[in-house]
Amino acid sequence: MDIPATDNMTQGQEGQGLNFVEQLIKEDLEAGKNGGRLNTRFPPEPNGYLHIGHAKAIIMDFGAAEKFGGTCNLRFDDTNPQKEDTEYVDAIMRDIHWLGYDWEDRLYYASDYFPKLYALAERMIREGKAYVDEQTSEQIAAQKGTPTVPGTPSPFRDRPVEENLDLFRRMNAGEFPDGAMVLRAKIDMASDNMHFRDPIMYRIIHTPHWRTGDTWKVYPMYDFAHGQSDYFEGVTHSICTLEFVPHRPLYEKFVSELADESYCPRQIEFNRLNLTYTVMSKRKLLQLVNEGLVNGWDDPRMPTLCGLRRRGYTPASIKDFVGRIGYTKYEALNHIELLEHSVREDLNAHATRVSAVVNPVKLVLTNYPEGETETMLMDSNPEDPTAGTHEMPFSRELWIEREDFMENPPKKFFRLSPDKEVRLKGAYIIKCTGVKKDAEGNIEEIYATCDMDSRSGLPGADRKVKGTLHWVSAPTAVDVEVRDYDRLFAVENPAVEEGDFRDLLNPDSLKVRQGVKVEPWLAERAKGGEHYQFQRLGYYTVDPDSEEGHLVFNKTIGLKDTWGKQVKK
Ligand code: ATP
Ligand code: MG
Repeated sequence: MDIPATDNMTQGQEGQGLNFVEQLIKEDLEAGKNGGRLNTRFPPEPNGYLHIGHAKAIIMDFGAAEKFGGTCNLRFDDTNPQKEDTEYVDAIMRDIHWLGYDWEDRLYYASDYFPKLYALAERMIREGKAYVDEQTSEQIAAQKGTPTVPGTPSPFRDRPVEENLDLFRRMNAGEFPDGAMVLRAKIDMASDNMHFRDPIMYRIIHTPHWRTGDTWKVYPMYDFAHGQSDYFEGVTHSICTLEFVPHRPLYEKFVSELADESYCPRQIEFNRLNLTYTVMSKRKLLQLVNEGLVNGWDDPRMPTLCGLRRRGYTPASIKDFVGRIGYTKYEALNHIELLEHSVREDLNAHATRVSAVVNPVKLVLTNYPEGETETMLMDSNPEDPTAGTHEMPFSRELWIEREDFMENPPKKFFRLSPDKEVRLKGAYIIKCTGVKKDAEGNIEEIYATCDMDSRSGLPGADRKVKGTLHWVSAPTAVDVEVRDYDRLFAVENPAVEEGDFRDLLNPDSLKVRQGVKVEPWLAERAKGGEHYQFQRLGYYTVDPDSEEGHLVFNKTIGLKDTWGKQVKK
């Protein structure tokens, strides 16, 4: 049954109501199906790291279980030993936990079901429902036909049962090399559904499996493993993405080999998450990692959950984004600006405000006493009444942003320029009196006088000037490294472009700055993974590469919201 998206689609943006999948679950529960039980599952293949698309599936699977008081299994779909690795298993578990979900004691592996699946395959052979095909995969593909042209039956299709059974057993005993033969279901070579044209059930793989070692030489295909695994676990709702719609009849057919009328898991499909300027295919992500085009799976430019985490994305921001894009029956390309909007909102509420100058130039206050230090109280987060204040030293020599000064400014420049006044945030009003340049004409120092009456608590505290600049006191400033990121890909939808996707990479997606000046309070307290707002600049997250005496920050996202612009377009 296909659900028209318009009827049941709920955009999470509105915050209330159920999405169409949850609506279907609710109806099943109310109808008393499966004895009122809800059991979903998240079934990753451990052949790569989880990305934000998987997060959409995880939030659906675990989230729906949470919402209706059901349970969600974690099942590793470990049916292909050639591509899978425990590194991925560990990373997948870490990332699901990070998102805030837990499978408790419901951790399963498709490989746990190999004996049962194998037994089912033998039974189907004995019942004349499966046969061993000795053709190459190319020959089999060539005989598939097209949706309008029926397929051609394999010359091995009517092999006697005993021969099939003998060959299948010998396939599994390791008598034949990889690719020599396959076990196929005998269904219908003329079916409208291409998946019914004698789908492959088992293939030979000699690579040892990370869990079952050398026990098996035949491994079930996805279609022969997935539905039955759901069935073995008592899964009631098998929620997956739209590309599985045409697989559903086969899913149900294989499950019906096991099930009675009282229980059959129900497959429901929703649209994938696709992001602009991003590739999501695990094969391509693996290639980026293996070829050193990014610095590992957790490179902050990657759409992987570990990459997003390192970049500074929070579980709350990812859930907010997934809620906004919603679950529908239509494929869509989601704008990365909306994801950025979600993280900006979350960090705005929670990130501690600090002062940092990324492109510093020295400012000298010529009338401020040499050697004197005052302590200014800075708001740690005006959005959070519990955040309080922290102390920041002020002195005669300060760092300000180079971009905050112009010698010959245009009309609307309200930052610092000769003879103009600005306020230094949380401190004094200053007036620029001149600059010092090097031989090439580059500005080395800016000079200003300080209105000593203008700081908070003094008579001139309320005097208004147009611009306010952030600053860091020079003698106590600490140098840190900042990694600035841009889109990993230079084109909006790299997944659909012709040619080599690697040619579409943005060559300027990473810029490393050394010598960024930060206030001492930040340098003393910053720990890996913490989020800060660098005043006027953006949100930054402490990178795990940080060491004693060398802090590294990842720029998570700038302050300016580009999403508003995006929707108006
Ligand atoms: P592949 O099967 O090609 O290795 P995959 O991305 O489908 O890649 P799985 O490990 O099979 O990887 O995915 C686990 C679950 O996550 C599946 O149920 C799948 O439908 C879902 N999923 C994967 N990518 C997305 C996406 N972009 N949006 C939403 N769900 C996704
Ligand atoms: Mg898959």
